[in-house]
Amino acid sequence: MYEYLQNVIRVRSALEASWNILQILELLGGHMSQNSLSRPINVQLLPESIIIKWDDGLITNYEHRYLRLNCRCAVCVGEWPSRREIDQSVVPDGVYALEYTHVGQYALQFLWSDVHYTGIYTYELLRKLGTYV
Ligand SMILES: [Zn+2]
Repeated sequence: MYEYLQNVIRVRSALEASWNILQILELLGGHMSQNSLSRPINVQLLPESIIIKWDDGLITNYEHRYLRLNCRCAVCVGEWPSRREIDQSVVPDGVYALEYTHVGQYALQFLWSDVHYTGIYTYELLRKLGTYV
C-alpha cells in the first residue's frame, strides 16, 4: 500500500513536470513557427467586439466574453491537461478587454476588465477562435 502511494506521488509529479514542459513547448512552438504564421497588423478593441486584421488579409471578430472564456492560462484552466475548461461563473457577464499588448512575435496578451491579464493568446489560437468577417 505504501509503495502504491509512493508510485502515485511519483507519477503525479512526473505528469506535472511534463505538463509544464508541454506548455513551454507550446509557446516555443508558436515562437519557432512564426514565419509560417499570419500576424495581426491591426487590433481594435470596440465596445461590442474585438476585431483583428491579419497580414494575409483575413479579418477575425471576437465577442469580448467569448475570448475571455477561452483564456488557457494556469489560473483559468489549472495546470492539469484533463481540466482545460474555465469556470464560467467567475467571469463577469459584461467583461471586456481594456488593453492589449504583443508578446514576442507569436501572441497577444489582453488586460481584461475583471483585472485578469495572465492569459496569452497565441496567433494560432486567435485564428482558431475567431469568427471570420
Ligand atoms: Zn486566464
